[in-house]
Amino acid sequence: MLEIKNLNISFVQGEKEANALRGISLSLKRNEVHSLVGESGSGKTVTSTCIMGLLPTPPGRINSGQIILNNQDLLLLEEKDQRQIRGKEIAMVFQEPARYLNPTLKVGDQITEMLILHLGMSNIEAVDRALEILELVGLEGGKRILDSYPHELSGGMKQRIMIAIAISCNPAFLIADEPTTALDVTLQLQILNLMLSLKNTLDMGILFISHDLRVVHDISDWVSVIYAGRIVESTSRKELFTNPKHPYTRLLLESIPDADKRGQRLQTIPGKVPDAENIPGGCAFHTRCPIAEDICKTDLPETKEVGSDNSGTSHTAACHFIGKQWKN
Ligand code: SF4
Repeated sequence: MLEIKNLNISFVQGEKEANALRGISLSLKRNEVHSLVGESGSGKTVTSTCIMGLLPTPPGRINSGQIILNNQDLLLLEEKDQRQIRGKEIAMVFQEPARYLNPTLKVGDQITEMLILHLGMSNIEAVDRALEILELVGLEGGKRILDSYPHELSGGMKQRIMIAIAISCNPAFLIADEPTTALDVTLQLQILNLMLSLKNTLDMGILFISHDLRVVHDISDWVSVIYAGRIVESTSRKELFTNPKHPYTRLLLESIPDADKRGQRLQTIPGKVPDAENIPGGCAFHTRCPIAEDICKTDLPETKEVGSDNSGTSHTAACHFIGKQWKN
């Protein structure tokens, strides 16, 4: 289990302080996809960057919290020990492979480098393993692909190479930060299916970061909704999509384009996610919430159990008025 406990992160520049994460807690089990979903600027990428130990400090500052893996707090480890864990125990797939693949190195060298560095393989062993990994990520052409430079591959192939690098050391957990956003719909589906099959084959836990609830619906076991650096609702995928409780989640779901509603005006959420430097007091969503009352402007709602079914599935949300209805 990878557990994030009460993570508080701010970015400090001179006198200004922006509260990027405000008490994030979530856990990720092996063989599970836990999606973290929210609009741009809600804190998703800061969460993934911090888990990977890639948060620039300064300007980033970890004010409190823990990231627990194998009974140790990753935030207390020295840089060299963190590097060992990164890649080997936790790996990451990014949105734009072109930005993270080294254009001057053949992709084979980029995969074998991980195997030699983290697993101590010889060059020959690493090449054999790299060929196996290419098959795992559905890339045909073995040696020819290993001998290619990133620019010689298509966008979908580059994304598969990045996944190949990420899974090369058989990590227990994969952080996938909007991995399909830059791809067309067909490739998106292929990459999502690939990730699901790798999750099962490698018994891997995936933290899937996305703003797209349609994709989240297709891939997740568990979903946490984040708003202004705080998780406002968290439960199983089925429960979230059939019985959403938090007004923000309900509005996000209503704004998904739906073929059945063709011809009707698409719902949108008024306003935008507040800037991390100016998060409103009380419930940060009160400036956009259709059922906000005075207490919402002053009192931060507690995160509490709100499940109404008898399945025993945990369902938590942070709102003063769970269940209150509104007219669209
Ligand atoms: Fe809306 Fe108030 Fe609930 Fe926040 S606490 S989501 S403002 S009703």
